[in-house]
Amino acid sequence: MTKYHLNLAHLYGDLLNTYSDVGNIIALRYYAKQMDADIAVKVVSIDEEFNPDEFDIALFGGGQDYEQLVVSKDLPNKKAGIEKFINDGKPLLAICGGYQLLGHYYVGANGEKIPGLGVLDHYTLSQDHNRFIGDITIKNEETGQEYHGFENHNGKTYLGKGERPLGKVVSGHGNNGEDGSEGAIYKNVYCSYFHGPILTRNGEIAKKILLAALHHKYPAADFSQAEALEIKPTF
Ligand code: GLN
Repeated sequence: MTKYHLNLAHLYGDLLNTYSDVGNIIALRYYAKQMDADIAVKVVSIDEEFNPDEFDIALFGGGQDYEQLVVSKDLPNKKAGIEKFINDGKPLLAICGGYQLLGHYYVGANGEKIPGLGVLDHYTLSQDHNRFIGDITIKNEETGQEYHGFENHNGKTYLGKGERPLGKVVSGHGNNGEDGSEGAIYKNVYCSYFHGPILTRNGEIAKKILLAALHHKYPAADFSQAEALEIKPTF
């Protein structure tokens, strides 16, 4: 029995799971165990209610345009819940398609404009006959940490108010191939184009997400040991 228990909502986990984004949950569980915590997972999909008070962490994975279109039609039902979850300061990890759908809209590869949640202030355009594909390395400017991953997206994302990049591109393309940014951080929301999955190669991000969830759920507890957890590089 672990001392702490976290509940994770896997948003549209049956539809958005490109390149095994679900592996992020395996990585979270791996590090959570070292913090004396376990994680119960529930997929919250189409027509299901998302109650923000039921969950401590959320994962919103990537997908193809078709699945994203299906999901976008259901998003208005979950908007208030997701907005509250984020504003309460709970951690959410959004990858690629999920990242795009947190913003105002994204334009699919066929030119169709697909509305997002508009909870974060970014938007995503499409590029003609091109995708950003390959290995990518970025550097977080606040911590100096380097993150490694694999990107594969048509969308070009432009950040908005209150968002700062997850990192500056060292090699690869990133959000849009123009401004040198990759991903976004807003409150405790971490967005990225990294598949692979991101947390298996970048345990420091898993650690941040877990600590945010634990501090939020157990405000009086002492997590100094968890804070001191050493993450060994896995790339
Ligand atoms: N359809 C989106 C794009 O290509 C997202 C792809 C993904 O999640 N891998 O930009």
